[in-house]
Amino acid sequence: DRGLEKSRSGFGARLNKFLANFRHVDEDFFEDLEDLLIESDVGYEMAMQLSDSLREEVKLQNAKSKQDVSNVIIEKMVELYEAAGENEKVGINFASAGPTVIMFVGVNGAGKTTTIGKMAAAFKREGKKVLLAAADTFRAGATEQLAVWAKRDGVDIVTGPEKGDPAAVVFDGVKKAKEEDYDVLFVDTAGRLQNKVNLMNELAKMKKILTREIPDAPHEVLLVLDATTGQNALNQAKIFKENTDVTGIVLTKLDGTARGGIVLAIRNELHLPVKYVGLGEKVDDLQTFDPAEFVYGLFK
Ligand code: GDP
Repeated sequence: DRGLEKSRSGFGARLNKFLANFRHVDEDFFEDLEDLLIESDVGYEMAMQLSDSLREEVKLQNAKSKQDVSNVIIEKMVELYEAAGENEKVGINFASAGPTVIMFVGVNGAGKTTTIGKMAAAFKREGKKVLLAAADTFRAGATEQLAVWAKRDGVDIVTGPEKGDPAAVVFDGVKKAKEEDYDVLFVDTAGRLQNKVNLMNELAKMKKILTREIPDAPHEVLLVLDATTGQNALNQAKIFKENTDVTGIVLTKLDGTARGGIVLAIRNELHLPVKYVGLGEKVDDLQTFDPAEFVYGLFK
């Protein structure tokens, strides 16, 4: 769990220090807690919700000791995280038959390629037959970068010419995946949000091709967000969410931020599950996200 050290030493340490200085639960306590939560990127709305529900629960449980109060905080954080999404599937929604198609969207630099590389390795290790489609034909070097991961992971890849039609790569990929019985097809996409309309049209076209070939595809559209960009990540996420059917979040670079509260903010403002977290640049630095484990970890 080395990758979470920064969240733990930032957000977690701040919480622990706050609780260590704890005298009694009064109005100052809640106000200081609200400030701390906001500074940790939990977001204003969630900070208020959290402190309101803490006020109630502390009274209800007559929590007085440091231990009781921190237990209530943990309980409420997990509860708020879980309440933000209903009836959702934990983990990846796999196809009942045929290839499972996972599209990755997000701005350049967020960590799409790296995440695909890590996830392909993990799926392959589970015995799955994995195919990558390099449909970011726009950014120079994107295809080569994905090809490096494919080689390293020992998985197959479908590519197209630079500046070529990304939809053609998607078509070749889905066709190959079907004909050659792949278990999973990962589709890398472009991330030039500065040309939003074009990008969203391109993503819609890719989706249409996938659905034409496999009616319930894509099975997941994972939005990759860089945790170190805080509020910016949230704003980008809103744009993608409005324009594509995002099914979940991969939050990368959580190893590089001391403000792990962004996990809770994303959840609360987007109502999307964080499915994976990136904790470094190496192949094994990807973990499935468990909210309870994350929150408990902060208080270690
Ligand atoms: P893309 O443009 O979205 O495909 O982004 P890349 O996959 O190329 O990643 C951009 C940079 O972020 C690269 O230098 C990656 O090594 C780095 N990166 C990606 N994920 C993580 C992560 O979880 N932690 C850290 N520290 N770096 C990451």
